[in-house]
Amino acid sequence: MIKKYMTFQKSNGIAPYIWTVLCILPFYFIFQSQSVIKIVVGILLTILFFIFYRIAFISRGWPVYLWTLILIGISITSSSLFSYVYFAFFLAYFIGNIKDRVPFLILYFIHLFSTSASINYNIVVHEKLFLQQLPFVIIIWISVILLPFSIYNRKERGQLEEKLEDANKRISELVKMEERQRIARDLHDTLGQKLSLIGLKSDLARKLITKDPEQARNELKDVQQTARTALSEVRKMVSSMRGIRLKDEIQRVKQILKAAQIQFKCDEEPTLTNVSLLTENILSMCLKEAVNNVVKHSGAASCTLTIEQTWNGIVMKISDDGVFNRVEKFQYEGHGLLGMKERLEFINGSLDLLTEKGTTLMIRVPNDVTPRDRVGDGK
Ligand code: ATP
Ligand code: MG
Repeated sequence: MIKKYMTFQKSNGIAPYIWTVLCILPFYFIFQSQSVIKIVVGILLTILFFIFYRIAFISRGWPVYLWTLILIGISITSSSLFSYVYFAFFLAYFIGNIKDRVPFLILYFIHLFSTSASINYNIVVHEKLFLQQLPFVIIIWISVILLPFSIYNRKERGQLEEKLEDANKRISELVKMEERQRIARDLHDTLGQKLSLIGLKSDLARKLITKDPEQARNELKDVQQTARTALSEVRKMVSSMRGIRLKDEIQRVKQILKAAQIQFKCDEEPTLTNVSLLTENILSMCLKEAVNNVVKHSGAASCTLTIEQTWNGIVMKISDDGVFNRVEKFQYEGHGLLGMKERLEFINGSLDLLTEKGTTLMIRVPNDVTPRDRVGDGK
């Protein structure tokens, strides 16, 4: 069905001028005619064309197709009576805006066929006025062939992009919902149970305090122990939600490498700007995994870490002076490298493995798009 928004698109450049000229042009052709009746008919046809054109744009359902057929009729009449073929251009634009594929194709072919027939007719009868403007007629004919498809495809792409954006929004909503449910479940399973246990035990202790003070003391000990476990579980939950900052991860890998007696070379702590928590978490995870591999597989004496941020992204390089001990070096068979690659792909990053002198992992991630950057993309 034709949607309400099917009005003239926001024109820019010279397009409004072309439309204006095309609106005024019919009168030039009409006034070339000698007969007054023909001039009156011509003016009426032109006015009717624009009225029906507007109506067709705001109609919905089957009337749209009826109006289009009437418009095609007016277009053929004006091209046979006044050699004015330019209404075909308006129609090509209109047909391109029809959303349903089958009606679009039917009207497209009817229009193409009728326009081609009326052009042929004018050529055959050697209409002088028509032959004078033959190059423009050819341009119109080409537009009748191409314009509807180009508009139709552009609209379809726009709709697909809209749908994709909606789907992405829904996915992020679902992810949030899932995360909320997980937190609720965790709270219920850990904290909820522990708190009710504390409640029961302290109640029991209150009842026992005069009858059996020793038992009451034991119950209170249990209460204390349960409260401690609950607290440590809450801490664990909170820290797992917070994610790992790159700075903290660097400190951690420093300790791991020290324990493995591998020298760690890192210039200075990186100062990253405009980096989302997600990107930082993924970089931290990659660093952790890369250093684990250095410790596990490389046999290196030293490991170097560099992190640089440029205008278009962050490059993190982890290299060691050991030996890469795999034959098929780009087959990510272990979970470590594959996991890194998948997570980086998720944020449009990339992973390169260089194994000439020791092993070097090059990790690139783009800078996060700020809302200000987004303004420029013309949406
Ligand atoms: P996982 O990480 O799942 O515990 P893994 O470490 O074997 O297993 P990957 O991290 O994917 O898997 O690494 C794949 C293989 O690449 C390793 O088994 C190892 O042979 C080789 N490799 C990776 N990093 C290095 C490195 N720094 N030095 C030498 N060999 C490496
Ligand atoms: Mg590994």
